[in-house]
Amino acid sequence: MDLFEYQGKQLFARYDIPVSPGEAVTDVEAAVAAANRIGYPVVLKAQVQVGGRGKAGGVKLAANEAEAREHATSIIGLDIKGHIVHILWVEKASDIAEEYYASFTLDRAAKKYLGMLSAQGGVEIEVVAEKDPDAIAKIHVDPVDGLDEATCRAWVQAAGLNPKAVDGAVDILLKLYTCYVEGDADLVEINPLILTPDDRVHALDAKVTLDDSAVFRHPDYEQYDATQVRDEREQAAHERGLQYVGLDGYVGIIANGAGLAMATVDIVSQVGGEAANFLDIGGGANAEVMTGALEVINNDPKVRSIFINIFGGITKGEEVANGIVAALDRVKIAAPIVIRLDGTNADEGRAILEPHLSERLQLQPTMLEAARAAAALAGATL
Ligand code: GDP
Ligand code: MN
Repeated sequence: MDLFEYQGKQLFARYDIPVSPGEAVTDVEAAVAAANRIGYPVVLKAQVQVGGRGKAGGVKLAANEAEAREHATSIIGLDIKGHIVHILWVEKASDIAEEYYASFTLDRAAKKYLGMLSAQGGVEIEVVAEKDPDAIAKIHVDPVDGLDEATCRAWVQAAGLNPKAVDGAVDILLKLYTCYVEGDADLVEINPLILTPDDRVHALDAKVTLDDSAVFRHPDYEQYDATQVRDEREQAAHERGLQYVGLDGYVGIIANGAGLAMATVDIVSQVGGEAANFLDIGGGANAEVMTGALEVINNDPKVRSIFINIFGGITKGEEVANGIVAALDRVKIAAPIVIRLDGTNADEGRAILEPHLSERLQLQPTMLEAARAAAALAGATL
């Protein structure tokens, strides 16, 4: 899950990475009060999980109370690339001599952590990578060995930072590495990492993605769940405890098991359709779970057909069929449904579905035929 900048900075502060003191607020008066407490000049920053806030008018300096009020008014409610600003971060403004870029992430192909450092910060790293790839100093860190100070120093030197910034950068990068590993992050990024005119190195921005699978090791990470930005469909699925990922297509998918759900997305694509989602209902396909899954799919206006792909294992075919029949009683489904039911007691399950079949509720013998039928019902052409 992605954190807001202020949450990332609060996490950095726990690892002793220097960040500016500040307060998160949600309305103009609170912003002004926070600015008065912090002391001018302050910077007001839109909290949205998208880059380029500066250019979009979401980052503004205020020298006094009148400016703080004016900027808070213009930023709260602002639409930045489709993200509406609800939270404003007010922090003590910094003087900037130079802007750098620093991050750690995972390089899956290398099976190592990847550190990236550049003297050209403050702009999107993708732009630097495109225009001047040599300006990014990369380092692979073996998780078993970790990152030692000598290696870190050589890396900072290779990046060509101002000599005045080297000690401070080494210190921050070692702490950032610890934050990345101990915090179970997938990404920690500081852009810009700044050198101030009085030679201090400081994190001016924070982008952090945490590994959802590691949340159980960090009970305090539960606080971030409340501020997660999910699209409406993902929120509805999350509330029902379903494993759901929204996609851009129009064939709604319900399958049991993550592997089968992924294979279902693939086969829909193979026959010329486009999946609207990934949805794994897990082991039990009872009426409760099936109802929840159908509700989530049904609320997606892009869905033109629904493909239910169930392979009975521990869950027997008749339980699945009863679950589907009961769910159809509870939810009025907008799109036609194609079912493929196989595995344990599939024949018994199909017999239960038989009397309910119609133009809008089809049963197909194989996964491939079901995918074709669902794509055709949605109007896909190959
Ligand atoms: P982003 O555009 O979403 O990445 O937001 P950033 O937090 O990186 O801010 C964008 C830019 O605003 C930075 O690169 C700085 O140039 C500027 N900025 C942010 N905070 C301060 C500050 O405290 N003082 C000054 N002078 N500029 C700042
Ligand atoms: Mn930034």
